[in-house]
Parts: sequence; C-alpha cells; structure tokens
Amino acid sequence: MPLNYIANAFVPSSSGRTIPVIDPSDGQPFEEIQRSNAQDIDAAVRAARQCYDGVWSKLSAAERSRLLMRLAEKIAEHGEELAALEQRDCGKPTKQARADAIALVRYFEFYAGACDKLHGETIPYQNGYSVFTWREPHGVTGHVVPWNYPMQIFGRCVAGALAAGNVCVVKPSEDACLSLLRVAELAAEAGFPAGAINIVTGYGHEVGDALARHPGIDHISFTGSPKVGTLIQQAAAERHCPVTLELGGKSPQIVFADADLDQAIPAIVNAIVQNAGQTCSAGSRLLVEQSIYEPLLERLATAFEGLRVGPAAMDLDVGPLIRATQQQRVWDFLSDAHSADIPVVAQGRVVEEAPETGYYQAPTLLRDVPVDHRLAQEEVFGPVLAAMAFRDEEHALELANATQFGLVAGVWTRDGARQFRMARGVRSGQVFINNYGAGGGVELPFGGVKSSGHGREKGFEALYGFTVLKTVAVRHG
Ligand code: NAD
Repeated sequence: MPLNYIANAFVPSSSGRTIPVIDPSDGQPFEEIQRSNAQDIDAAVRAARQCYDGVWSKLSAAERSRLLMRLAEKIAEHGEELAALEQRDCGKPTKQARADAIALVRYFEFYAGACDKLHGETIPYQNGYSVFTWREPHGVTGHVVPWNYPMQIFGRCVAGALAAGNVCVVKPSEDACLSLLRVAELAAEAGFPAGAINIVTGYGHEVGDALARHPGIDHISFTGSPKVGTLIQQAAAERHCPVTLELGGKSPQIVFADADLDQAIPAIVNAIVQNAGQTCSAGSRLLVEQSIYEPLLERLATAFEGLRVGPAAMDLDVGPLIRATQQQRVWDFLSDAHSADIPVVAQGRVVEEAPETGYYQAPTLLRDVPVDHRLAQEEVFGPVLAAMAFRDEEHALELANATQFGLVAGVWTRDGARQFRMARGVRSGQVFINNYGAGGGVELPFGGVKSSGHGREKGFEALYGFTVLKTVAVRHG
C-alpha cells in the first residue's frame, strides 16, 4: 500500500486511516493511500526544514542542477512505469499518460539548466555606494496539486522551486497521487537528500488545509479550483505567506473568417477533448465570425461524431472523467443546456467495451450558447464545447473577455495586424495565434489574470516567484 514519503522513507500516516483509490475506467477500487492529518504535515515540514538548513541551502547552484538533471534521467528511464501508474489512477489514454511523463522529464531538464543562471542585478546609485540584489529561496515551499495532470503539475512547481533553492512539501490530490510517490522515491535514488521532496497524501480539507496553515511553510503554490484557491490564500494571509495561484479557465478559441480552418479544426477539437476536457487551459468556448459560423460548425460536427470514448488502456480519443462527482457535474451542465434550449450540434460515442461503472462522457458540441449562460461562464471541466457567433473584431473581444477567467486564448486569423490587436485586447495570461497551447511549452510562462489566479509558473519566469529579492547597499565612500 502506498505510504507517505517523508525524509526519503515511506511512512504510514499517524491517523491509521486510508482512502481507496478508484480506477476511473471501471469505477472500482484497486489501491489505498494514506488519509493523512496535520501531524503528518508537521513531520514533513520538519523534515524539509532540517534538509534546508542542514544540506540543501549549502549546495551550490551547479550541484542542485546536477541533481535535477539526474532525476530527469531517472524519470525518463522509468517513463513507461510512471505513465502506467498515472493512466490507471487518472484514466488517461496511453498517449496522454506518456506525454505527461515526457513533460515531467522536460520540467526537470529545463530547471536543471536554469539553476545556475538565476542572478540578481547591480543598481546605479549615489556615488560612494554599490548596490546589488540577490535572489534568495523562500526556504520550505508547500505545493498543493490537483488530479488532472499530477506529473506535469508536480514537475512545473516542484522542479522550479528546487532549482531556485527551496525544498518541498507536496500535497497531491486524493484522487491521483501514485505517480508522484514513485517520483519522490526516484529522487532519493538520484541522490536528493532526505527531506528535499516530501509527499503527504490525503483530503484537501484535512492535509491541504494543514499545509496552507503551517507556520513552517514559507511559500505556497496551489493549482486547483478558484474556490479552494480562495481558501488557501485566506489561510496563507493569516501569516502573510506568499502564494501562487493557478486556477481555472473558460478559455476562448476565436476564429475569424480568414482563418486556415484545416489547421484550426483539429486544434479546436483537441483543446477541448484532451484529458477528457479536464484541463485548466481547455479551449471551452468557441467564438466564430458570423459568416463562417454554419460551415465551421458543420465541419466540427463531423469531427465530434468521429470521436471515440473508452477505457484508458484502449487509448482512444477520450478516456473517462476522474470520478462520479465530476461526471455528475458535467451531466448537470448538459441538463441545464437542455432546459435552456441550447442546441446540441454533435456528440462523440462511448464504445461498447466501456464498463457501465466507468465515468464516461461523450464529447459534446453546443451552439448559440448565450454569453450569460453558465455554459459560457463557468468551467465545466469536461469535453463540452460552447459555440457562439460574433459580428466583428470588437464583438469578438467583448465576448472573449466576458467571463471572470483569463487563462489562455486562441486566435485564428491570417491578418497580421489583427493578430496583434487581438493579442493585446484579450485579457489572459497566454495568447496563441494560429495554434493552441504550443504543445505544452515547459519554457513558456503560464498563469492567469482575474479569477484564473496570479503569479507565473513554467519558464524562467517561475523562478522569480520561487525566490525573494534582497537588496544589498554597500557604502564604501
Ligand atoms: P480542487 O481545488 O478541488 O483541488 C486541488 C487540490 O486542492 C487537491 O489536492 C485538493 O485535495 C486540495 N484541496 C481541496 N480542498 C482544500 C482545502 N480546503 N485546503 C487546501 N487544499 C485543498 O481542484 P481539482 O478538482 O483537483 O482540480 C480541478 C481544478 O483545478 C479546476 O478548476 C482546474 O481549472 C484547476 N486547474 C488549474 C490549473 C492551472 O494551471 N491554472 C491546472 C490544472 C487544474
């Protein structure tokens, strides 16, 4: 049975309690994880602090870099094993699970290379002074990770935090943590000192909350829902602990009449069905210029009807949703669409081999979704695309910006000047022109505005969030 990972050892929770792990492909339990408590978090934070004070803070940047690179190599060697763990835990089709393992390798490679390139500045000041800045680590960082991309999000926050000189206590989602426990073990094999990476499993309101409140945590990175993000920020505010929040999205794909539809259509479909739509940056709203609304919907209908949904191991276009409550959430949205007479244009198909006890949902394309309907405003977190038409550029921007979110936007047009106007006008952390997501982009700063969160992860930019700047002024005459 998977145990917590603290100070390079597997240890049971002091609670003596466990949580069943369910396979989303058939809805059956196949494993148990620790249902940890505040005492376990305390043990992990102490181990992390001891590691930071005793070993980690004394390593040079080059030594940290070598450790991160060695872990990248270990993960690559064990890529298939990790992908298989994550596949069963999250219900990911094989292609997706493998892609996530590769992304995890890339995070550690990228941040291994960044360790010794993070530096401060010298600042011109009055005569007789030399002023410079140091980028110092926070110390012990806390990381609350969701279930949709455990390996990728772990890589994104933990590799960056370690590269910047921090140690980590990680609280994965109760719905998906098996791959991360194995990665922590691989880190020990790669030579990470005891306490550099600690993992405590359990429920959010128990261990997640305890982590956010722990006085020994110097920085928290949270990826998850806006609702829990608020709770984390409130808990951290009690002791003025800095927080990075990566929350949800309702990201628009904006298609103009001059777009290359052969390029756009597969990207639009992929952006809403990847990981069964359970992606924070899913392109879940489709805004289409009026003159091509009907023909584009017709082509998309054909694409949606060709999509097949089934057990993760069948490696179809779409796997199951993570759990029964998530499936119910998607059904509630679709039932609201039905009550509001929002037309269904097309749906994919759940294959006959899919067990009835699994959490399957056919990808669904809806049209003429009113801008104020919850399908145009709230995150479904399922494979449901809400289409609506726009008149002109101004109207497109008005619709694009008409939600509480601002994570990602896609713009499809051949008009160069319009590409820039749209990129400027849309309120989001990332804008993709004639592509969507740039294939993941470990190197590209990522994060939101408005209710999508604040702070940036990925890319070099993340390292600024994982450090604090110290200004040193030397008066030498
Ligand atoms: P969630 O907010 O329910 O849970 C996220 C994590 O927070 C889990 O580990 C959970 O156990 C923990 N948690 C729950 N309650 C807590 C509490 N009271 N205190 C502390 N921790 C608590 O989100 P989820 O359902 O796991 O993931 C889906 C959400 O995450 C979606 O809204 C999605 O958009 C968002 N997400 C955002 C990004 C991004 O980078 N912006 C990436 C992936 C997912």
